[in-house]
Amino acid sequence: MFAFLLPQRCLACGQEIETGFLCNNCHDYLPVAHSPRCRWCGRPIKKKDICTFCKQGTHLDHGRTWLLFVPPVDVIIHAFKYRRMSNISRLLGQGMTTVVRSDHVLRKADIVTPVPLFWWKRMHRTYNQASLLSKVISDECHIPHAELLQRIRYTRTQTRLDDAARRKNVASAFSVKKSAIQDKNILLVDDVMTTGATMNECARTLKAAGAKEVYSCVAAITPE
Ligand SMILES: [Zn+2]
Ligand SMILES: [Zn+2]
Repeated sequence: MFAFLLPQRCLACGQEIETGFLCNNCHDYLPVAHSPRCRWCGRPIKKKDICTFCKQGTHLDHGRTWLLFVPPVDVIIHAFKYRRMSNISRLLGQGMTTVVRSDHVLRKADIVTPVPLFWWKRMHRTYNQASLLSKVISDECHIPHAELLQRIRYTRTQTRLDDAARRKNVASAFSVKKSAIQDKNILLVDDVMTTGATMNECARTLKAAGAKEVYSCVAAITPE
């Protein structure tokens, strides 16, 4: 409540800053995801054109990410998700916007939509971080935002699960709540992608409901 009275500090290095969440130096050195990238999820890879996870099968047609999920990005995302620092959506959303604008596939999406949270998780956290990011991208890239998906069952936290277990964990966890997606190209947005199991299940659900192609854009992705 009295945050404006306290000196603001860079989330990454702790140095005092006048405005925003990062000092200029930490902002300049954010670990951007460079090519070569996996053609389906955008994860930086060494030589092949598909990452280990997408090799197991994916319903995504194309995907990009702004940053790698390594320090200090993990700290920034944690603050965004769990410390109710909803304004971080501006920092992350702007970076994702640059990526979407530069990508000849993503920028032509018809609808941008967030990966949903289960209703009581959303209530507990007060906002869905993916939804805030989707709205920033929508405003900046002039792509209509719509909350197309809902979680129809609670799924346990995936942190300690491997890819196969994650896929099983999220199977049939989503449903489409708005049906005007026939032949539309949908851009799915989330804060972090790990193995891509959640995104993949969301893409499968959207396609089963008639979507033409499904793309992804995340703020950060774990390295291979
Ligand atoms: Zn800093
Ligand atoms: Zn991939």
